[in-house]
Parts: sequence; C-alpha cells; structure tokens
Amino acid sequence: MREIPFNRPYLAGKEIEYVCQAIKSLNHHGNCGWTQRAAAFLKEKCGGGDVFLTPSGTAALEMGALLLDIKPGDEVILPSYTFSSTANAIVLRGARPVFCEVDPQTMNMDPVCAAGLVTDKTKLLLPIDYAGVPCDIGAFQGIAEKVGVPIMVDAAQSLGSSKNSRPCGSFGALSTFSFHSSKNISSGEGGALVVNDPSLVERAHYIQEKGTDRTLVMQSVKSQYHWVDIGSSFLLSNIQAAMLCAQLENIDEIVSLRSRVVRAYREIFTPYEKVGCILLPKIPSDVEYNYHKFFVIFDSAERRSQFLSRMKAKGISPYIGYIPLHSAPMGRSLGYRPEDLPLTEDLASRLVRLPCYAALANDGLEYCVQEMSKVIYEFYG
Ligand SMILES: *Cc1c(COP(=O)(O)O)cnc(C)c1O
Repeated sequence: MREIPFNRPYLAGKEIEYVCQAIKSLNHHGNCGWTQRAAAFLKEKCGGGDVFLTPSGTAALEMGALLLDIKPGDEVILPSYTFSSTANAIVLRGARPVFCEVDPQTMNMDPVCAAGLVTDKTKLLLPIDYAGVPCDIGAFQGIAEKVGVPIMVDAAQSLGSSKNSRPCGSFGALSTFSFHSSKNISSGEGGALVVNDPSLVERAHYIQEKGTDRTLVMQSVKSQYHWVDIGSSFLLSNIQAAMLCAQLENIDEIVSLRSRVVRAYREIFTPYEKVGCILLPKIPSDVEYNYHKFFVIFDSAERRSQFLSRMKAKGISPYIGYIPLHSAPMGRSLGYRPEDLPLTEDLASRLVRLPCYAALANDGLEYCVQEMSKVIYEFYG
C-alpha cells in the first residue's frame, strides 16, 4: 500500500547551496544578504509594498497588530474559520476578536456579515485568503472606507495568487504571508509583513528592530541607534532567508505542479457537485490562484468521517479544515457559543482538505484519484 501524506515540503534544489553560502558569509542575523534578496523578490512580486521578513506568519500578524495600534477596548472583525494566530494577534493586544461568518463558496470571510458586525469600536478588518483563494477584498474595502478603518489581510496561504490582476500581498494597509513548511513556499518557519501604507513604513522598521532606529544606522543616516518605540525581534535569520530564496526562485514550478493536483481532484468531484451531493470551492472569475489547497464539503459530518477512515485504510491522509475559533475553548472563554455562527459551525464539520503538495503531481496522484473515485462513487453512485 502507498503512503500519501497530507503535505510534503517541496525542495527546489538549491536550498543547501544557498544555506551553506549564508553560513559561510558569517552574516547569520536578519536584514542582510539573503533576507534583502528575498524581500526584494517579494516586493516585486506583490505590488511594491515594503516587505519585512519575520520569523513566522504568526509574528507578521503580531507585528501588524502592534503597528496598527490595536488596543484594549478595540474590536477587530475576522473570520472564526481561521488559524488561531489570526485571532491571537488581536487578543495579545487586549482587543476583542469579533467573529464573522464565511461565504460557503470560498470559506473566506463573508462581507455582508462583516458589515453587520461594525460598531463604533471597530478598528480593523482582518480577512484571510483561505486555501490560497483571495478574499472579496473589494467588498471589504467598501466597508473599511465607510467606517474609516484599515484592513490587514492574513494572506498566509495566498502568495502567488491574484485578484483583478493585482497580486495578493498588495491588498489592505498590511498583508501577511507565512513560509511555514505547510505552505507553498517554505523556509521551515518564516513569514513576511507587507506594508502597503507608506505612512506605516518608518514605524514598521522600529517595531521589527526591537523598538530601535537601528535601520537608520544600517542605512548610514545615523551613527548610533536608540530605543524609540515599542517593538520586538521580528526578524528572519539570513540562514532561513537563503532557503526561502531557493524556493522563491521556483515559485512558478511549484504552482504549476500543485495545479495539476487540484485539477485532477476537481475532475473527480465535479460530477457529484453538479448533482448536489457535495460542495467544492468556487474560484471567482477575477481570481488566479496558487492552488494551495483543495477542499470538499460533504453532505454530512458522518460522511466526512467515513471518507477520512476509508482514505486512511488506503494510506491516504486527507485532513479536516479549521475547528472554528468561536466554539473552541478559547472562543468560549471570550463568551462565544457554537450557535453564534451556525453556518461556520456546520460547514467546518463537513469540510475535508485533500493531500496537496508539488511532488504529488508526479508521484502518487494517480493512486489518490483512483482510490478517491472509488469511494465517492460508492457514497453517491
Ligand atoms: C499558516 C497560517 C498562519 C500562521 O503562519 P505561521 O508561519 O505558521 O506562523 C496564520 N494564518 C493562516 C491563515 C495560516 O494559514
């Protein structure tokens, strides 16, 4: 029997060479050689905003929340259907996460619901790009402009995707990426904050460099640096940035391999979607996406567990999506109840993500397709 994991990190080939160069260069800290090279690549790829490489996507969100001065008493609207880090960035600042329902077509935050959650305490809209599909940013911009608040996009999964021919990373005052090994592009752990609002750039440097103006010394503007603001160490090491560069050079290849996996899955499941047995992600017509993940929403939670155990018996490891934050222990301790977001609760209980990684395209995809076809036929004939 074959073993098909849920995810397998991609190796572009030059990682070891670049990492060795970074080590031998004796520059191992952040904001030098490879870090600058990766940041320049991302700046070019993501519409020109200033790019700050961070130790993780989580750190990028936390840096963003600091930069936007999110404070106790503030409310931030975000989906319940997301990773804990999206909410933690807000809760760590003492602010309240206001959880919003999803659009079942994409599992991204629903703009109509978001508009209804605005109060005079709302300070930020924080949508995510689930599975690599950009959120309905136009609708969020409309709300944000009306209310007079910024947007930070948790674009952890959507590097390489675009909407309306504009790349992910270029949306909102801030966008954040993750280079965790589960994402399309990986440095093991890593992330980036893209600052699209020029008025936030200077302070972003201070916050990234432990609250100092060290960047000005590096740019030879000043001779000494001082403690000028709050901050933390939000830097990615040059060694990890070297690995990141090797991966970024192959971004098109990675997306193309993943697209073969996603297209094959879509082909097997589409007939069952057409007759209403299951739901599949709908890619909006103005979106090009990076094929980060592909999900199926079954007609019941029982059907999902049957699918998971049947796949497990064949050595294939699909995986559920998020367990909604509002009904998780931490969400409940903030006063939320499962019934507050019934749509999210229901869809999350039926959703499964299929194994998706670049190497699967050439090794294992046929096996997955064959076994999944059998099971889905058995379920729905
Ligand atoms: C992966 C992910 C994160 C966290 O990124 P890390 O690099 O693992 O810290 C945050 N939000 C979303 C939506 C993610 O998918």
